[in-house]
Amino acid sequence: MHDMIRPLWAEIDLDILMENMRRIRKLVGDVWIVTVIKADGYGHGAPEIARHMLEAGADEIAVAVVTEAMQLRACGITAPITILSFTPLDFAEASIREGFALACYSYGYAEELDRIAGRLGLKAKLNIISDTGMGRLGFPVSDESAEEVARIASLGNVEMYSLQSHFASSDSGDKSYAHMQLDRFRSFMKSMADKGVSFRYTAMSNSAGVIDIPEARFNCVRPGIMQYGYYPSDEVDRTVIDVRPVMSLKSVVVMLKTVPSGTSIGYGSTFTAEKETKVATLPIGYADGYFRNLSNKGEVLIGGKRCRVLGRVCMDHIMVDATGCDGVREGDEAVIMGSQGEDSVWADEIADKAGTIPYEIICAVAKRVPRVYM
Ligand code: PLP
Repeated sequence: MHDMIRPLWAEIDLDILMENMRRIRKLVGDVWIVTVIKADGYGHGAPEIARHMLEAGADEIAVAVVTEAMQLRACGITAPITILSFTPLDFAEASIREGFALACYSYGYAEELDRIAGRLGLKAKLNIISDTGMGRLGFPVSDESAEEVARIASLGNVEMYSLQSHFASSDSGDKSYAHMQLDRFRSFMKSMADKGVSFRYTAMSNSAGVIDIPEARFNCVRPGIMQYGYYPSDEVDRTVIDVRPVMSLKSVVVMLKTVPSGTSIGYGSTFTAEKETKVATLPIGYADGYFRNLSNKGEVLIGGKRCRVLGRVCMDHIMVDATGCDGVREGDEAVIMGSQGEDSVWADEIADKAGTIPYEIICAVAKRVPRVYM
């Protein structure tokens, strides 16, 4: 890796990724799996992730933004694609031509799509979103909404592709809110069926739903974080499925020095050595996605030993305490996320220290960090 512009890279283990997907397939059986690879495949690189998820058994791809969907088509991916977030009408024509399924939560929007699709002689694929308690996007569960969706279904140039909802707290140990959402979703499904409106797919489950609420799988699921080897929270039942992290973040020691007691390290001098200390500098900083609130807290592995961040995380560097690493030399590999020797530091541990969730840690790995697929 020393021939890189800068020795910092993310290793993406495609075998682990595919094994995670195969295990999800085994768990859910033959329901339609929409692999969620928004935000550049949760930071892993969407095109490679899409290809390998499809090869391992996923049926459809979900992204958040129309440009993500376009990028996949440009990479030759022909599988069905769902766009989970709002798509501006300026992109409707391109989306309809590409067959993207678009999130729909108002009659007016559907009417516009219908008009554009009619002009193209095509059908607009709609994912009707029902807001059962997430409070983000979607038709509220009500008779008026059911009426509105029935009116959408009667438009001539739309396909009622799916009925979807999203859990707000399926990852909580207390499933009462999730079950309340599920009840609302079922009542909305029934209103739709009573009005003679049918959908190809019905979907509600994110990873936590897939793991903990099997009755919410219907005929379609939307797993995200579990594919990348993390559990949505500490409260889901980890015995249901074993998944392993896919991304490691690695670097090398670019400077090593021994400083005497009393030496301060980093901006603001928030760390001062109380004894002679071996300090290793690594070329990763907050601009690479290593959060600044890991200052004086984060730990990396060098020579299989944990080395704590000394002082503040800089934009492009961290300095770590390598005192315990016998024989460490400049050029030695440092694992910021991943395993080395007997020990490992994964995104959930980093997230705990940074006061966030593993989702944010993996998504935050900056574009300037090359992804190396193995
Ligand atoms: N479905 C929707 C609508 C989402 O927004 C997300 C991600 O937030 C997912 C599914 C996947 O969620 P998770 O990563 O928790 O499995």
